[in-house]
Order: sequence, then structure tokens, then C-alpha cells
Amino acid sequence: MKEFAGSTGLVLNEPLLFEKGKKGRSAVSMVRRDVDYFPVSEELTGAGPNFPDLCEVEVVRHYTRLSTWNFGVDTGMYPLGSCTMKYNPKTNERQACLPGFAGAHPLLPDELAQGLLKMMFELERFLAEITGMEAVCLQPAAGAQGELAGMLLLHAYLKSKGRKCAKIIVPDTAHGTNPASASLCGFAPVTVGSNERGVLSLEAVAAAMDEDCAGIMVTNPNTLGFFEENIRGIAEIVHSRGGLVYADGANMNAVMGIVRMGEIGIDVLHLNLHKTFSTPHGGGGPGAGPLCVGKKLAPFLPIPRIAREQGLFRLSSDFPLSIGKLHAFYGNVGIMIRAYSYILSLGPELKKASRLAVLNANYVKERLRGILHLAYDRACMHECVFSDKLQAPLKISTLEIAKRLIDYGFHPPTIYFPLVVSGALMIEPTETETKEELDLFVEAIRQIVEEAGEKRELLYSAPLRTKVRRLDETGAARNPRLTFPFNDLAGKNG
Ligand SMILES: *Cc1c(COP(=O)(O)O)cnc(C)c1O
Repeated sequence: MKEFAGSTGLVLNEPLLFEKGKKGRSAVSMVRRDVDYFPVSEELTGAGPNFPDLCEVEVVRHYTRLSTWNFGVDTGMYPLGSCTMKYNPKTNERQACLPGFAGAHPLLPDELAQGLLKMMFELERFLAEITGMEAVCLQPAAGAQGELAGMLLLHAYLKSKGRKCAKIIVPDTAHGTNPASASLCGFAPVTVGSNERGVLSLEAVAAAMDEDCAGIMVTNPNTLGFFEENIRGIAEIVHSRGGLVYADGANMNAVMGIVRMGEIGIDVLHLNLHKTFSTPHGGGGPGAGPLCVGKKLAPFLPIPRIAREQGLFRLSSDFPLSIGKLHAFYGNVGIMIRAYSYILSLGPELKKASRLAVLNANYVKERLRGILHLAYDRACMHECVFSDKLQAPLKISTLEIAKRLIDYGFHPPTIYFPLVVSGALMIEPTETETKEELDLFVEAIRQIVEEAGEKRELLYSAPLRTKVRRLDETGAARNPRLTFPFNDLAGKNG
């Protein structure tokens, strides 16, 4: 057995910039000033922050040291269920940095942005092909914005038929953003429970679907890691009562090139390019949540749309039924370039990526069987959900297991979600982990569970090896310290 990565070694402490520096210091490679001196602090900010004077190497070390405190997929396994924290091939980063793309100004006229527009046009076609949908809009800047746009489409479509609905069905296994997006658009979410297999039954949907329901918003594969196997029948029921089917496709990593959503009754679907299609994410960084629709919703898509006329690409706003604009310019283009590069470089191998993601999740599920309690004992898709039921008699909960994993060098999985499983641990290993790494992860959990018997106190105070020990999360939320340290530290500089 290989050794755990753990978390020891030369990790340097670093104070705030305001605690460093000395009056009059500056960088060696600053460009020579060619405008008049203008003092920042007094003129612009009144009393003003007392900016520290630092030399170049102090600034470089400050940020470089902070960067070594980061944990990401390039550092270690990050099995955060529902988030698809998979390795993003570096070639896709390189393509996004090509000067012609990275330097393109958003106000360029269409004639001077043909390459960029062509890339976006083709990406729309790729995503339409992968999802089996008719038309795609790349504009939404996040999965949740795609959902909101999708709800606005449903609303616009129903309105065009002279209808207005007050409700929408949302299963209890939906991602939390689903009911939020629905209510932001004025639809009251009606919760429908999943069955003993962790999926929706036809009967449950039939009982909830009435004329006042705009349709259903279903995460597929759902947050328990199961494919909604009754989706065709569900779509038939919803359609026969005048509703539409929205699918949250953020879990597409399980079914790329395998399931064409347009062919199983889905009317509208969003993807998360920053999960499935190669953009590093987390911490609220830029995202892209393209909206893919069938024929009947296409006229309502946001503008501008990318049109092709006589071999030229242009942004067209000539869509009278459109719900309007969602985002400045055309969304987060850098993420589209990564997705385009990812899809072109993998081609038919996209399907293999999904198969490996499913294989890895099932491998972890089988290896952890008996160590942790399996919430639903059946084959899963890209993620598997356990609970702390077996550890509860020892008074060890999901939180302790998650925190202790950090000491073993793993990012914890998603915890206490999905809500339908009490004390959930939701593990999504992704396709890019090796068998050795998965084995180490399983071994870490096995050892932690063993510690739960003999070293309970240790688990209560984990993580022990990190720079910051267990945080009082409730305290941080209830008593946030919002004052910037300018005032406290102003006197210390110099
Ligand atoms: C991540 C996720 C979302 C939300 O996407 P954001 O880009 O974070 O807004 C929605 N649904 C599912 C299933 C997700 O995993």
C-alpha cells in the first residue's frame, strides 16, 4: 500500500500584507511613472486605507505562499459529490489563453470576431449533438442561471399558449438550486418524493401533475447518483397534461455520449461546462450553464444568438419571442473555449470518460460496502451516497469522518446532501482518479472508521495537521467579522 499524501512538510506561515513592509519600499520592476503623482489615500477615500509599502519580493512571496495553501484537483483527490471536481486537461487551458481568444475585446464588431463566433457556433452544435437537443444558448454564466433562464422559457412558452401556471414539480432528490430558480421565476415548487429505489415513480408524478403545474424540473442523473429510469413515462404524463420537462444536466458527466436527453422526453436542459467540460471551478469562479432546448422552446431562447448567413457569423437579436438578454455581452467565453477544446480533443472518447466515471463510483461503492452504510444498495452512476448510520452508535458523525479525511490528504466528499439521506456522505470520484488513488481513499476511510472505535476524541478535534484547525462554522455565520483590518493595523506598518 502506498503512503497517504497526508499534510505535513514545509508549509509557511504568512501574515497579512498590512503587517509587512516598510515606508518607502517599492518594486524593482515597476515601470517608470509618466504621469503626475496623485496620492490615493486622501483624495479618493477620505480617511483612506493606509496601504503598506512593500518591496517586490515581499509581494511575490506573499501571494506564492498563499497559493500553496490551496487545495485543488491538481493537488489531490477531490471527491465532492454533485460538483464533478475532475482533472481538467492543461491543453484546454492553453487554447483558452491563445492571444486571439484571450485578447478579443467584447465590443469587437462581428466581422472582426469571426473565429470566436465560429467557435461558439460550433460549440452550440456539439452540445446539441451530445444532448440530442435542437438549439443551444451558451449565455448563462452558471448552472443556476441556466435554470432560471429555463424557467423563464417555460413561462414564455405557456404564455404564448394563453396559459399561466402557478406551480412546478420538483422531486426531493433535486439539487437545491432547482426549487430556488423555480420560485425566483414565480413558480411554487411542489415536492414529490422519490421511491425506495431513489427515483421518481410514475404514480407520484401523475398524482402531482395538474393543469396549474408548468411541468417538472428533474435532476438527471439525480443527486442520489441514480438515473431517473422512468423518465420517458414521466415525460409522457407531463406532456399529456400540457406541461414541459426541464432536466438539470449538471450531472452529465455520467452520461456524455450515452444518453440523448432530447430523445427521452426532455424539453429543456442546462449543462455545467465548468463541471463536465473542463473548466476548473469552485470558490464561485466563472462558470457557464448553456441551455439546450427542443424545437418548441427554441424561439424563446435568450438573445443575442449566433447566426450564420452566407458563410459569415453574427450575433443576431432578431428573435421577437426571445426572453431577452441574460448576461453582459455573451457570457463567459473563456469557458466555452475550454469546452470546445475538450470536446474536440476527446471526440468519441467522451463516452469513455463517462463510463470510467461510473466505473470509479461503483468501485468505491463496493469497496466501502460494510465500512459505511450504503443509503441505497444498487448500482450507481457517477456518485455514490453513504450515511453515518453504522458510526452513529459510537457517536461519530459524518462531519468527523469528513474532517479527519483532510489529515489523510483528501478533500472531504459532499456531506449532509442530498437531504433525503440523513448524515449523507456523497462521493464522486470522477473518471480521472487511478485505482491506486481510489484504494488509498477507501483505506483512509477504513482507518478513520477504526479510529471511531478507539480514538474518538481525536476525531472530534480533527483536522489536526492543517494550518487552521476545526472552525466554528456556526460562530462564523452568526458573528461575522466584517470590518476590514485597515483600521486595526494602520499603526503597525512602517
Ligand atoms: C452544481 C449543480 C447546480 C448548480 O450549478 P452552478 O453552476 O453552481 O450554479 C445545479 N444542479 C446540479 C445537479 C449541480 O450539481
